[in-house]
Formats: sequence, C-alpha cells, structure tokens
Amino acid sequence: MEEGKCWAAFLGGCGGQITKEHIVTQGLFGRRVRVDGLAGWLGTPKCEMPIRKLTSNILCEHHNNELGRTADSAAIHLLKHLKAIRYPMELPGSRILRPPVERHVSGLGLGRWLCKTHCNLMIINGIAPDPEYIRYAFLRPITKPIYFFFAGQVGEKKRFADSRDAVVSYRQLIADDDTGCDAFSISLAGFQSVVSLIPVQQNGKEMIDRINELQQPTPLGMSKIIFDWSEEPGVISDIL
Ligand SMILES: [Zn+2]
Repeated sequence: MEEGKCWAAFLGGCGGQITKEHIVTQGLFGRRVRVDGLAGWLGTPKCEMPIRKLTSNILCEHHNNELGRTADSAAIHLLKHLKAIRYPMELPGSRILRPPVERHVSGLGLGRWLCKTHCNLMIINGIAPDPEYIRYAFLRPITKPIYFFFAGQVGEKKRFADSRDAVVSYRQLIADDDTGCDAFSISLAGFQSVVSLIPVQQNGKEMIDRINELQQPTPLGMSKIIFDWSEEPGVISDIL
C-alpha cells in the first residue's frame, strides 16, 4: 500500500477520488504542529508545519466520508477532558469552588481513532497495517480480538508536540518473538494506550483492557472520566 491508494480498499466500496486524510486529527492541534520521527516521510528529522499540511492521499472519498468525524471527536473530547482535570483551576468559572463534573468519552470512538491513526502512520511509511485495525476503524466485524490497554497515568509528564502541551506521540511496537504481531502505542496528552492483537504484560502484570474509568485527584475533588465501550464491532471466530 502506498500514497495514492485507499488503505481501506480491501473492505470494498471504494469510490470517488483519493482524498487528503489528516495523518493525525487536525482538531487536536493549533495551527502549527511540530513533527518528529517522520523523517522517512518528510525527509527531515524534525520540523514544524501548518497542521493543514500534515495530510496524505491515502483514503478514497467514500471511505473518508464513512470514517466521518466520530473517531476524531472522541479523541478531541478526551484531550479536552484531560486538560480540564489536569488544570481544573484554569477552567472558566473554577473560582466558584464546585466539585468536578463527571466527564464521558466514547471508548468505541477512541478505539477507532487509535486504529485509524495507526493505519495512517503505517501507510505513509509504506507498511501494511493488520487488517483487523482497518475493520475496527470502519466498524466492521473483526476476526481476532483487539486489546486496548491503558498504559499511562494522566499525571505523567510527556513530550508535547503543540505550542505548549504534548499532544500525540506514537510508537510502533516490535514483538521480541516471532509472532509478527502488529502492535503500537499512542499517547494522547499523557493518556497512553497500547493496542495489540495479543495480550500484553507490563512489569509482569496483565494490563487493563478497555479502561472504564479514569480518576484524578484535583484541588476541587476527584475528577472522573468515564469510557463507554458499548456497541463495539463483534468478533467473528473462525468456524471452519
Ligand atoms: Zn476506499
């Protein structure tokens, strides 16, 4: 797969022109983005560019439309909530000392965003992502379970890529055995997910798959983000 082709083509239903897809969701950033680690694609190790240029011709019009805005908006909501619970005193009206409100994020939308961001970054580097991630991003039934492990504490400091705060960092994870498993980690403002097709352990412990609730103590009380994982695509097992 390469630029100029649709990375969702194997699902069928391609149509229209090949359109520009934002490699990482535009709405997460200000006008400019600092990019590091895409040397193969950009030709330079580090650079700053207008966010509107961080695009590639890798999805057809039909599939771009089908992907829609739901996945992007889950990531944008989560980023907003993370900022709110991390800096509660910077929220409008925070001088009135009210306890924090419960915040909600679509787990399904977040999962789709993780999968499609991975697909975009694999494709621009000339690597085919595992088809399961493409199916999940497009809400098609998957044939193997996908694990969405929570790996990072919200309070952790991370490298930021926007003007002030770290927004997204991505790593392709290479298995140290021969499974050839396509796994990756994405950190959204310190909220780190490890996504894999096989169970993963961290420090000898099984990790949490699909976090339901994130809590963060704040000066105004305990802040909570609730994740709703209902209506995920089902897993079709190999019957034959
Ligand atoms: Zn297509």
